[in-house]
Amino acid sequence: MNHVFLLLGSNLGDRSAYLTRAKTLLQEKVGRIAEQSLIYQTAAWGRTAQPDYFNQIVIVDTSLSPIQLLTTTQQIETTLERQRLEKWGARTIDIDILYYNQDIVEEPNLIVPHPRIATRRFTLVPLVELAPDFIHPILHKTQKKLLENCEDPLQVKVLEK
Ligand code: AMP
Repeated sequence: MNHVFLLLGSNLGDRSAYLTRAKTLLQEKVGRIAEQSLIYQTAAWGRTAQPDYFNQIVIVDTSLSPIQLLTTTQQIETTLERQRLEKWGARTIDIDILYYNQDIVEEPNLIVPHPRIATRRFTLVPLVELAPDFIHPILHKTQKKLLENCEDPLQVKVLEK
């Protein structure tokens, strides 16, 4: 079994519901969700007119290869995107592959670890919640260290229910 970290993000429609629906589809098509972070809320970068993002990280156990995983998460995005109102530009759901075990993947359409992990507070905060000591296989630093060094100014708050 492969241990993968996926970042879910939504800033359109019923954001909590889209996260829930994405998790249901992930369980069906990718594998068992072993752990999930709290849901965090972050302002949409450079787009203050858009609703805040809701983000959550799930750790999934899967037998899919990295490329099969990307194809499947893109299918899930498409399934949930179909629900969107056409006039809106924002996305109902975005799924990024952050880590796949400690593997390094460099394909034309897939880079793992995800190249923007270290520069995004909304990614590092839930990673630190779930796996503070997990070592980034290229940067050779823990998630905790990456967050300490992160210069992203955007505030990341736990979603108030
Ligand atoms: P975005 O619209 O920002 O979600 O970017 C989606 C594109 O990023 C897709 O065409 C993917 O092929 C590509 N991509 C590259 N690496 C990754 C990754 N680790 N996770 C998800 N998408 C990726």
